[in-house]
Amino acid sequence: MGLREEAQKAYKLCLERDRRLAEEFAEKAAEAFREKLGVKPDEVKPVKYGLAVVTADGIMFAAVPCYNNIQFRLAGYCEKCGALVYSDYDVYSLEVLGGALAGDTRYFRYHPPKLCRDCMGRRKPTVEELLIQVLDQLGVYFGE
Ligand SMILES: [Zn+2]
Repeated sequence: MGLREEAQKAYKLCLERDRRLAEEFAEKAAEAFREKLGVKPDEVKPVKYGLAVVTADGIMFAAVPCYNNIQFRLAGYCEKCGALVYSDYDVYSLEVLGGALAGDTRYFRYHPPKLCRDCMGRRKPTVEELLIQVLDQLGVYFGE
């Protein structure tokens, strides 16, 4: 086997391993979602190792690892380029999800950003976004 062929083979194995790891993570995410929010997700799509998109009752979450746990962040798509975006905050209970869905301002930080980091970097943040950042830093308001 020539170098070119060896390299192609190694790359193929690498892609297969990545796909397997992504699928394993997605399976764990489905289980963790059921444990945390009490319902079986309708769909769990592996993206890569450490990222899966979970959909339940029309609500989209990004499943991401956090220490030995998996967190579920409300997710959406960037309004400009369509990339997957998600909040920095874990929807850790039904109450939090309910608050976010109700549009309660105390739960705004659980909403996904409207733009991805790349698109966000190309413009100044709005007053609303700055305000949310400031409120975030005063986390004590949110009972934490
Ligand atoms: Zn974007």
